[in-house]
Amino acid sequence: MIAKTSAPKKQRKQGMLDNVMRQFDNAADIIGLNPNIRKILEVTNNELVVHFPVRMDDGEVEIFTGYRVQHNNSLGPYKGGLRYHPTVDIDAARALAMWMTWKTSLAGLPYGGAKGGIQLDPTKYSDAELERITRRFTYALGDNIGPELDIPAPDVNTNPQTMAWILDTFMSTKSPSERSTNMHVVTGKPIGAGGSQGRDRATGYGVFLSIKFWAEHKNIDLKDKKFTVQGFGNVGYWAAHFLEQEGAIMTAVQDAYGSIVNEEGISVENLLEYTKANKGSIVGFAKARSIDNSEFFGLDCDICIPAALGNQITEKNASKIKAYLIAEGANGPTDVKAEQILLEKGVEIIPDILCNSGGVIGSYFEWLQNRNGEIWQLEEVMAKLEKKLRESFNKVMETSKKRNVDLRSAAFIIAIERLEEAYVQRGIFP
Ligand code: NAD
Repeated sequence: MIAKTSAPKKQRKQGMLDNVMRQFDNAADIIGLNPNIRKILEVTNNELVVHFPVRMDDGEVEIFTGYRVQHNNSLGPYKGGLRYHPTVDIDAARALAMWMTWKTSLAGLPYGGAKGGIQLDPTKYSDAELERITRRFTYALGDNIGPELDIPAPDVNTNPQTMAWILDTFMSTKSPSERSTNMHVVTGKPIGAGGSQGRDRATGYGVFLSIKFWAEHKNIDLKDKKFTVQGFGNVGYWAAHFLEQEGAIMTAVQDAYGSIVNEEGISVENLLEYTKANKGSIVGFAKARSIDNSEFFGLDCDICIPAALGNQITEKNASKIKAYLIAEGANGPTDVKAEQILLEKGVEIIPDILCNSGGVIGSYFEWLQNRNGEIWQLEEVMAKLEKKLRESFNKVMETSKKRNVDLRSAAFIIAIERLEEAYVQRGIFP
């Protein structure tokens, strides 16, 4: 049995790490988490920083820095995405790895949490360079990732193609007899390379389902409801696609290049076609007008979906928000101070670890198929995803009601209690 002493308080920098730690502390305080288990969950298990050389198209060599932080694996192998972005650093990887631990625990999956990536701006590199960077990063990670150890997936600026390069590199470093047993070293692969039907849309579909379940709970019809989306990538697009199918209207979008608005509605599919022909940018879309980025969160709408980066809704813009629901497609988009302001205003927030958990649930299905040599149809994947997400959603709602806490606190409580139980039952080696 684990004894109780008080956990140390640490100095922390502002930012996503501070945010996730405050969220954790809040839930841990509510449930009176065993202080020794708190000590374990407050720190990451392993942190890998790799520097590696890559030959550029012009023949010069550039050195890159890559990260993989493994926060906790008490419930199963580490699981979490790889991000290619200038803001990737050790603290960002730590924060995102912790969110993964809470997310996989809440979803009831046999996984722990990890995250990583490379600090770079992918728009500055050719596809051939990105392939060499990815392959060399995979080689540098070596056996610190693996299908039963740590399973990466796509995140910001990485995609199925990135996962296919990782898989191919990882398999190529194994003996021939072992190669096909490593198919599940990454999820989010293209279908032809061992990916699963539905994994492409899983996160956005989960965001949509969370909104739909919430609306059902409140007796709100989503038809003609206005929504705004920050980030029109994998998560933002698919969430918007399913909301539009339900009759809701997308009125504004912001991406890394700018913000656009049309109160009459922006066609999700037309905007996708436009971005494909416009290097991924929404700027210049003819059937909407450009606005300043600072206006975005203050726009009139019913539902706001942040689906880009962390710390986007802060005390600076929270009071301007007019939406009554924020559905967190991104990880950590709302900081703790902003959340207080929003909750006081009566705005509800479907927290990231629930709202975007469709992605890791979809990844789990891909992993299971690879592991068992199975291939599931799209309808089967989507039905299983819906069932799993509904279970999580209902649990969060029940806990929120029972404990009289907001949805994020409820989600964290469920996640932490599952981890606490695992530690209490297993004890600490030796
Ligand atoms: P993506 O690379 O496909 O898309 C990111 C989008 O965000 C792009 O449209 C980009 O232009 C925009 N963006 C980047 N910087 C921005 C900025 N400063 N302001 C406004 N927009 C900006 O990434 P994604 O996979 O859709 O991931 C988006 C978010 O969802 C991330 O927080 C990620 O961690 C989270 N998430 C992703 C998945 C997944 O399966 N891909 C799963 C769970 C959570």
